[in-house]
Amino acid sequence: MSSHDGNDPYRMRDPRTQYPQPPFPRQPQNAPGEVRRMDPMPDHGETSYRGAGKLPNRKALVTGADSGIGRAAAIAFAREGADVAIGFLPDEEADAREVARQIEAAGRKAVLLPGDVSDEAFCKTLVADAVRQLGGLDILVNNAGKQTAVKSITELTTEQFDATFRTNVYAMFWITKAALPHMPAGAAIINTTSIQAMQPSPTLLDYAPTKAAIMNFTKALAKQVAEKGIRVNAVAPGPFWTPLQPSGGQPQEKIEEFGGQTVFGRPGQPAELAGAYVFLASQEASFMTGEVIGATGGSTPF
Ligand code: NAD
Ligand code: MG
Repeated sequence: MSSHDGNDPYRMRDPRTQYPQPPFPRQPQNAPGEVRRMDPMPDHGETSYRGAGKLPNRKALVTGADSGIGRAAAIAFAREGADVAIGFLPDEEADAREVARQIEAAGRKAVLLPGDVSDEAFCKTLVADAVRQLGGLDILVNNAGKQTAVKSITELTTEQFDATFRTNVYAMFWITKAALPHMPAGAAIINTTSIQAMQPSPTLLDYAPTKAAIMNFTKALAKQVAEKGIRVNAVAPGPFWTPLQPSGGQPQEKIEEFGGQTVFGRPGQPAELAGAYVFLASQEASFMTGEVIGATGGSTPF
């Protein structure tokens, strides 16, 4: 349950005070982070997202959908009429089950697909299982991501550099390559990039370049697969309140002030991104491909 029960997403209100503002308590946890260890609890739209039939009977695969931004997208997709396969790491099964519960409560099919996307063989299995259990694939969201802050290049190991690129960039390549042969004209691919693609933090020397690569890959692939009638776009979040951040994505002192640098003085909540994923996945975005939708709290460079 989120702490924002009774939220009406269509009621006009001041975006600065709509959600919690820093300071936040320090809350270290191991990666991959868990939603239930977060304080305050993030809002993924559980009690607020209202579907309008925008994705009737679509079949969607969302990686990293157990928590955070992927969870918000998965819940919204289901409420818009889609069946949703969710990718996650085996350690995240409790979070994944909660998302499955939300999808099923919307009257849609949920498929749970645990595994490590930094492994090429698993990426192929992930897509094959999603296609088989959903009966096809219309929407692919490459959203799983690894972010681990390191102060200096002298402490950044080859192992971490490699793992970040495999998880954020190679997995997108492997999953997309396996998925495309199954995707019909009208299908949509959405990749999660970041403001880091354009405004990199000094502590994210491996992560920020992966997000630049994701943005660039999105634009190149969009041109390549237009001839199949498939659209490819990206969403670029600024600071969002998800388990990625307190589980090593930021040093703990940065968690205390997280999101305070935005013009609204707070981080975004995953629920505030759901509409962007739904829009790009839906036929409403029929003339959009190779585009990047920023949701950065006032500093979009895209
Ligand atoms: P999150 O921790 O809730 O989600 C990330 C998910 O990635 C995890 O739940 C996990 O299931 C998955 N994942 C990580 N490594 C994996 C692996 N090896 N195999 C399979 N799955 C793996 O955090 P989030 O912030 O919602 O992250 C979602 C995406 O948003 C990421 O790509 C992240 O880079 C991006 N992003 C987040 C922010 C932010 O401030 N939170 C800002 C910009 C971009
Ligand atoms: Mg998670």
